[in-house]
Amino acid sequence: MPDSPHPPVPRVLGVAVPSPLRRLFDYRPCRETPPGGWQPGLRVQVPFGRRQVVGVVAECRDASELPLSGLKPVDACLDEAPLPADWLWLCRFTARYYQHALGDTLHQAMPVLLRQGRALEARTRERWCVTEAGRQDAPPGLSRAPRQAELLAMLRQHPHGLVSQAVLAQSFTREQLRALVDKGLVERHEEPLAATSTDEGDSLLAEPALPLNREQAAVLGTLHERLEDFHPCLLHGVTGSGKTEVYLQLIEAVIARHRQALVLVPEIGLTPQTLARFRSRFRVPVVALHSGLTDHERLDAWEAAASGRAPIVIGTRSAIFTPLARPGVIIVDEEHDGSFKQQDGLRYHARDLAVARAHRHRIPLLLGSATPSLESLQRALKGDYRHLHLTRRASRHAPARLELVDLRGRHRQGGLIPPVIETIRETLAAGHQVLVFINRRGFAPTLACHACGWLAECDHCDARMTLHRQPPLLACHHCDRRRALPDACPECGSIDLRPLGSGTERTEETLASLFPETPVHRIDRDSTRRRDALEQVLAEVRRGDPCLLVGTQMLAKGHHLPHVTLVVVINADAGLYASDFRAMEHSAQLLEQVAGRAGRAAHPGRVLVQTLHTDDPHLRLLADSGYDALAEQLLEERRAARLPPFRFLALLRLEAPREEAVAELGRLASQALRDWLGERDLEVDCLGPVPAPMERRQNRYHLQLMLAADRRSRLHEAGAWLIAWLEGRPEARRVRWSLDIDPQTLA
Ligand code: ADP
Ligand code: ZN
Ligand code: ZN
Repeated sequence: MPDSPHPPVPRVLGVAVPSPLRRLFDYRPCRETPPGGWQPGLRVQVPFGRRQVVGVVAECRDASELPLSGLKPVDACLDEAPLPADWLWLCRFTARYYQHALGDTLHQAMPVLLRQGRALEARTRERWCVTEAGRQDAPPGLSRAPRQAELLAMLRQHPHGLVSQAVLAQSFTREQLRALVDKGLVERHEEPLAATSTDEGDSLLAEPALPLNREQAAVLGTLHERLEDFHPCLLHGVTGSGKTEVYLQLIEAVIARHRQALVLVPEIGLTPQTLARFRSRFRVPVVALHSGLTDHERLDAWEAAASGRAPIVIGTRSAIFTPLARPGVIIVDEEHDGSFKQQDGLRYHARDLAVARAHRHRIPLLLGSATPSLESLQRALKGDYRHLHLTRRASRHAPARLELVDLRGRHRQGGLIPPVIETIRETLAAGHQVLVFINRRGFAPTLACHACGWLAECDHCDARMTLHRQPPLLACHHCDRRRALPDACPECGSIDLRPLGSGTERTEETLASLFPETPVHRIDRDSTRRRDALEQVLAEVRRGDPCLLVGTQMLAKGHHLPHVTLVVVINADAGLYASDFRAMEHSAQLLEQVAGRAGRAAHPGRVLVQTLHTDDPHLRLLADSGYDALAEQLLEERRAARLPPFRFLALLRLEAPREEAVAELGRLASQALRDWLGERDLEVDCLGPVPAPMERRQNRYHLQLMLAADRRSRLHEAGAWLIAWLEGRPEARRVRWSLDIDPQTLA
């Protein structure tokens, strides 16, 4: 490297350390200056309290609020060059927007090995080749170095050189290699371990793209015209309309321009099937970020994305924090999916960060869904997003309408009523498959005493314990507490204890006894603990023999099950009457997704939805006119009720083992906030404190305070003030609290 003068060494480094404290910590630079000088984004090892931690330089300054002489120096700089600038920008944005500590944000947004101080570099291997000079007879400088001479002789026998491993295996050392390099007799080459992008001449595609139908072609045409700037689009297409094919062809255009594509999919959506679709289409590496990666694989993937070696990066929520050397497009599939929002710690929404990121990079953003969130739909209707439609399925049959089936007064077997069981029988007899959707795992939602009415409740939560049969026990799905089944009622001693209601296990059992000739596959969190269990079942189902599938929403989303022609929803009401204002939106999305599993191939589908509320106006609208009509109706109601997306919310959650501590802090905080708001004209409302929908959970009391505003900036101002207030209060130390910006659930 030429001797370029270093930028002046700053006197103070403001370091973001992994801690919940919303501030930087000041250190002095260490003696050794990194090659490019001190800059934000360099990782440093610093003493922090009694520990050594890895922090990130966030500011280089010459002044501190503390006396400079009192500052400790950083122990070491861990990077030669700062971590990627786009990543650092996104982390700063995230920390600011979600009012979270920058240090913790950076920490969570980097791969584990980087948190531990490992270098960010491509895993390469070195290859050692003899130079022209090394090939001469009796090369100089080796007379007193016999081992080096032997090493050179060995390398001379390999015209393409040897990799380090092969050299070291012959008990030569790195020092000997380096000495030969210094003498100009050997050259060191680095070659990447992972495949690089295709050469110019090669075709990008490993298999041809599908010929698009008219609608797809129109959508793609629109997208092609807008590859050069920030263009947010909502791709609103019914299930099975070929959105994924549009993504694939859009990505093709992006890679052809030597840019990268980042694809976010819901947690449930990153199936081997999905990946296979991307991998079999393109000849270039597709990097997948999922929970099954080892720490090393994750670091490699990060590096491949950051260096630009990986043209396609696909991953779940946290993949939004993957740095990209040449960003070209961000695609969020199933953008309405709840798993894009992190529900603890750093409570970010990956879809919303995708919008910010695409804007920053000035690249197109494609949000795809059959059932868009009301947030995105509203923006599309307003014209902030371009609204692209796919109204037809690629296969012959239109998505099935929901048929509501009245549960009232009917005898149920495993949750199913006789006419529905009859329809299942007919479908199986016709040689088709049936999917039964039930949103509760376990055998039954609870155990009840028929003599006195006692219900099995969790000691630690305001919740009933779920009855499981495999293995038999009572389990709380909120705190994971388990209890043996009681032999008799703990209240009255009666032995007449019975399961109340149905879960997946009970429905499975009922179906197995009703249809002994037909295989029944249960798919829920319990049955798929083994990693490949789900794939095994799905592979068998795809073979097409008649069978029954019983499952939770794990089964409802994403999977292409071509032989399913009947979908039965055991109980549509479970989520419908929850207290949350988003309950109807989420139920409708789920029902529509479940319904989308029916009739995707050769035969049309039917969807039977059992409910106690066949006359519920929302459910009727969904059944008669579909999701889009319901969504527009819900938007009108949200507008009238002044709820998101027409207003912005932030939710302060407070929890502690002692009810009084929580109540006291809730009272003080709301009072202080109201006083502060009263002195200003911020137009922010403070609602509460109110107990959380489940007040006692894991033996802790939960309370919440809601902030609401028409303007986002005002909400943030009030939130920031509230956080500062809490950080200064001794009462807040005994209570766990967090501020959730744009909460997705009020639980
Ligand atoms: P979505 O993502 O909208 O649910 P997919 O992209 O998964 O839809 O497409 C559903 C099915 O239709 C897939 O089997 C896919 O291969 C097929 N398909 C999509 N587009 C076309 C097309 N243009 N021609 C033929 N088949 C298509
Ligand atoms: Zn009893
Ligand atoms: Zn519990």
